[in-house]
Amino acid sequence: MTTENIDQSEIDKFSELASRWWDKTSEFKPLHAINPLRLNWIKEHCSIENHQALDIGCGGGILTESLATSGAKAKGIDLSKKALQVAKLHALETSLSVEYELISAEDLALKEPAKYDVITCMEMLEHVPDPKSIVQSCAKLAKPGATLFFSTLNRNPKSYLMAILGAEYILKMLPKGTHEYAKFIKPSELSTYIRESGLEVVDMIGLHFNPLFDHYYLGPNVDVNYMFAVKKPL
Ligand code: SAH
Repeated sequence: MTTENIDQSEIDKFSELASRWWDKTSEFKPLHAINPLRLNWIKEHCSIENHQALDIGCGGGILTESLATSGAKAKGIDLSKKALQVAKLHALETSLSVEYELISAEDLALKEPAKYDVITCMEMLEHVPDPKSIVQSCAKLAKPGATLFFSTLNRNPKSYLMAILGAEYILKMLPKGTHEYAKFIKPSELSTYIRESGLEVVDMIGLHFNPLFDHYYLGPNVDVNYMFAVKKPL
């Protein structure tokens, strides 16, 4: 590999849980719950059908498969071998045509520059040592005119309370240690990485959870979990 933008302990965490990726009651329940919401938001911003879509940090393929189901020529990449094994098996079970590859975003950017119309990189930037390098690689992988989507966790006292204390310690929705506060990314920081990579933010939205009703929804507040829609200029 030509890049070292990887925290092996992060990859190990996801590899350990890999067998449960498609269990909707497992640690991955929140990803299953937000998946239709983020897919709809993606579809509001670009057309997917017959387009080349790349899902970076795809894990077991929850979003990658829905991109394929929506008609995209979908590819998922991740650095967890176990997660990719699960993703490949699941695609076989569902008879979906999805390509998976164990490769970093940086290395794929060297192999397949300007190939993709749609790029998603969800709930992954807060697990890498150098998120800016991932954004730069996405910019290289995107065709001019492409739409890109990033989601991550904001960094402030409220996000610490909700995403770490609430989700890991009080509600026990996620295993303790899933997230590290210092790696959370403020929208202003993500915007800077995006702008400096030659891309433009076109929209942003928050992903919210109401524990009383076990309900997930999208809304304008980006204090905790949030998503950006981004364009590569023509
Ligand atoms: N994007 C998926 C999974 C999010 S979990 C979804 O939202 O449904 C975070 C994923 O990022 C894990 O699969 C983990 O293995 C992957 N990951 C962490 N660091 C990475 C890196 N440096 N390069 C590629 N993938 C990485």
